[in-house]
Amino acid sequence: KSGSTERTITLMPGDGIGPEISAAVLAVLKAAGAPLKFETVDVTPTIDKDGKQSIPQEVVDSMQRTKLGLKGPLMTPVGKGFRSLNLILRVLFNLYANVRPCRSLEGVETVYGKVDVITIRENTEGEYSGIEHQLVHGVVQSIKLITRPASTRVADYCFRYALAMKRKKITAVHKRSSMRMSDGLFINCVREVYEKYKDQLIKHGIEYEEAPISKVCLKIVDDPTQFDVLVMPNLYGDIMSDTCAGLIGGLGLTPSGNIGLNGAIFEAVHGTAPTIAGKDLANPTALLLSAVMLLRYIDMSNYADRIERAVIKTIKDDKVRTIDLGGKAKCSEYTQALIKNVESLK
Ligand code: NAD
Repeated sequence: KSGSTERTITLMPGDGIGPEISAAVLAVLKAAGAPLKFETVDVTPTIDKDGKQSIPQEVVDSMQRTKLGLKGPLMTPVGKGFRSLNLILRVLFNLYANVRPCRSLEGVETVYGKVDVITIRENTEGEYSGIEHQLVHGVVQSIKLITRPASTRVADYCFRYALAMKRKKITAVHKRSSMRMSDGLFINCVREVYEKYKDQLIKHGIEYEEAPISKVCLKIVDDPTQFDVLVMPNLYGDIMSDTCAGLIGGLGLTPSGNIGLNGAIFEAVHGTAPTIAGKDLANPTALLLSAVMLLRYIDMSNYADRIERAVIKTIKDDKVRTIDLGGKAKCSEYTQALIKNVESLK
């Protein structure tokens, strides 16, 4: 973990617009001089002898070597028997915390003005544990699994993140009035971890509060500045993180990190955008900002800061924007403008 030692990253370009936005991101990282080397792997699923879908061994081997991934979107085929490859990756590499900074970009007008909210979502259990069955015809049960270890580790990550990133407030989100045992356990775990970090948080002026999901929804669409860092179980996190992406003007701008016990994968929040794939129309910003998160994760903040400033300069000052942001620039034209700005900021 050092600011200038070269790091190898597993690159999964993905499907649809994935390859074109990945190429754009690599070009910008190169222009910034970031000491990164990429191992490109294909995540096209394999089917094992039992007919079970999985990801190629090459991806597993590469991730086990590098511990760091940058991933484009993957297509999830609709139909019985297909599992989401994203889910497989999450389980395989124990990616327990999904972090999404939803920060309005200067120069992109939104209804809400300045928004800066981080959602931290428990990524491995809750309502997404996949334990569902039919009791009798017309009656199904789905288990919401909440455990002490998973709740504690995501809470611990949240407090460490808030301290490292000098945030202002943490809100632990729940619905314990209805989900007494499951959300009760989750919130008790967060509270226990809070006690461990309490003195440091107070010293750094970081507040801690707990709030029901329903109240957070009501307040966040009224005034997002009431929130700063949100930590919550899986399903609430899924919904809140998309809500927050909406507050900053959509999917083309939102990065994310899946933090694991032994490594991390960074990816754009959006999907494969099949209707614009291969047409040089995609906006690579979300994947680029995911790479910026990756750079900060490995203590290469100087490169991260420069790229972030270049994005703002390109969009706000030069007004070079892709079509989703109301501009006319092709992906390649926007990338060239970014490269010019990254180089001039060196
Ligand atoms: P999508 O995010 O691909 O597209 C939603 C809308 O946003 C479309 O109009 C699209 O053109 C636009 N858009 C998305 N990203 C953009 C970008 N970078 N630049 C410009 N416009 C952009 O969502 P969808 O259509 O619901 O899903 C398509 C496929 O992607 C599905 O197979 C789905 O399973 C998959 N998906 C994958 C991931 C992932 O791998 N993390 C996430 C979401 C969806």
